[in-house]
Amino acid sequence: MNEQQLLDKGYRKYSGENIDVFFNASICEHSANCVKGNGDVFNTKRKPWILADNASADEVARVIDTCPSGALHYIRKGDA
Ligand code: SF4
Repeated sequence: MNEQQLLDKGYRKYSGENIDVFFNASICEHSANCVKGNGDVFNTKRKPWILADNASADEVARVIDTCPSGALHYIRKGDA
């Protein structure tokens, strides 16, 4: 899905320098894979709860790939 498709489906965008993260709360099944995977990027006690620049783009992508529900997506930017 491209950015517009994600936004149309209700995903919210969390911009980063090298990667943008998209999250859809209505799809999330609260497995907590994201917060356990990297608590610097994904922290539900913080606002915003996703900070895409708190890890490398590869690390952000790695954690998002463990999300079982599809609530998290990412789009890499540039050469990163
Ligand atoms: S890994 Fe995906 S389904 Fe699990 S809490 Fe995070 S966003 Fe929700």
